[in-house]
Amino acid sequence: MQAQPNWEKLTQRLERLMRLKSFPIAFKMLREKAELDTIPFMRRPDHKVTLCQLINLARNFDWTVGADVDDFLFASCPSIIGLSDIPESHKDGSFRSIVWVATKEDGRKCEASIPRIPLGEYEAVALAPLVYNPFEPDIVLIYANPAQMMLLINSLQFSRYEVMQFFCVGESSCSDAIARCFNTGKPSLSIPCYGERRYGHAQDEDLVMAIPAESMGKALQGMEALYRRGVRYPISYAGAEADITPQFPATYKGLEEMMEKIRGEGNPLLVGLTGGIASGKTTVSKMFQELGAPIIDFDLIARQVVEPGTPALAKIVDHFGRQVLQSDGRLDRKKLSQIVFRDIEKRKKLESFTHPPIYEGFFNQVNEITVRQPDAIIQVAVPLLIELNLQYLFDTIVIVHISPEEQTKRLARRDSISTEEAANMLKAQLPIDDKKAFAGFVINNDQGLDSTRKQVQSVWEDLNRLQRSRSDGIF
Ligand code: ATP
Repeated sequence: MQAQPNWEKLTQRLERLMRLKSFPIAFKMLREKAELDTIPFMRRPDHKVTLCQLINLARNFDWTVGADVDDFLFASCPSIIGLSDIPESHKDGSFRSIVWVATKEDGRKCEASIPRIPLGEYEAVALAPLVYNPFEPDIVLIYANPAQMMLLINSLQFSRYEVMQFFCVGESSCSDAIARCFNTGKPSLSIPCYGERRYGHAQDEDLVMAIPAESMGKALQGMEALYRRGVRYPISYAGAEADITPQFPATYKGLEEMMEKIRGEGNPLLVGLTGGIASGKTTVSKMFQELGAPIIDFDLIARQVVEPGTPALAKIVDHFGRQVLQSDGRLDRKKLSQIVFRDIEKRKKLESFTHPPIYEGFFNQVNEITVRQPDAIIQVAVPLLIELNLQYLFDTIVIVHISPEEQTKRLARRDSISTEEAANMLKAQLPIDDKKAFAGFVINNDQGLDSTRKQVQSVWEDLNRLQRSRSDGIF
């Protein structure tokens, strides 16, 4: 069974990253109205209401609210969430033609287009601020301005990309957001309708998105990953009048050229191999090597390009001074990382010295392998692959995963340190679970070596299939 998310933690993080002005709402359909009485802090309306009023009470008044069919003012609202059918006067278009459309024919069309939660399965609805963990919601409702909403869309699309559908039947935006999301199991975005602005107090700039509860973790993970890449809200401006080249990731420019250089004359399958500290990357990479996958060690290249006598080391000393050298003339890596730690400008400067020769070294090694073996499946071990955002260099990524508990134990055992020290080291790193979203393949290294070897064998077969299908032009 899937663990229930900690809604409080998730909501707090999301509210901060999106800087939301109203609370994300937990929305749940109840099979029996008696369930309303079991929800903590439940307030039932003491007069007839619309669904948009209930939404407003939850997201702006911070209330937990619920209703059954008898609490609603007229048939439209409960019919959209499956609590009642619509009367004949709605079906034949009369109701819509009073205000919203010119003819009954238009009214019929509009009514027929409105998505509704199937009738007969539910007796009541409950809404509450998600942050209180009030109940396990079916869907989560988020109100935000278009810029915040774009960030949310980007986040949902970050892994397992899908086009975001946008719908608008016109009046009854609750149907476009809530009912459509409920029925399809996909996030659904819409513009709050006139009624929701008048009675639900949606603001001029508000958009609404309904998200299946089970997609909320994915949304937050995507947002965290984008945050680390500098994609944040509020969105910073880049000068309209200036050369904005430096504002883009360095790799946007010349990407084609770079990819061509990596491929050289051959057609290697480049597999990025990563994981967390002591998760078993070396162990797994040896197993792949035994199966025939040559290995390129990115860390080794990174160390080689700053050895004494290299142009990169000369540039580093020129810029940062001799303080970054040890007495034997070798680079004092610890000192240098202290200097660039938390100083993005200095780090960028350092990278401008080291990245070109690292890439050059990487391309050279790929070419040396492909001269001998044009279709090689090359594993490239990069411990900080995700942190350094190097995914684009590889055809697929293999993550060597273990649970944080096992990771702490193995790190402590291997490095002869206490479990507290090991746990602190892990805290300073990107959690290994966050890396999974980037993986083409995950090898679970929690069990013994036999279990790992079996998985490596199976991934190896998949990689071979992948490589064959690329050569056949299928992929
Ligand atoms: P680092 O991040 O420090 O480079 P790593 O990810 O390469 O580490 P390994 O060195 O392969 O990790 O493994 C870490 C420790 O865990 C080693 O002592 C290794 O022998 C042990 N280990 C790896 N896999 C298993 C396993 N399946 N069962 C038991 N111990 C394992």
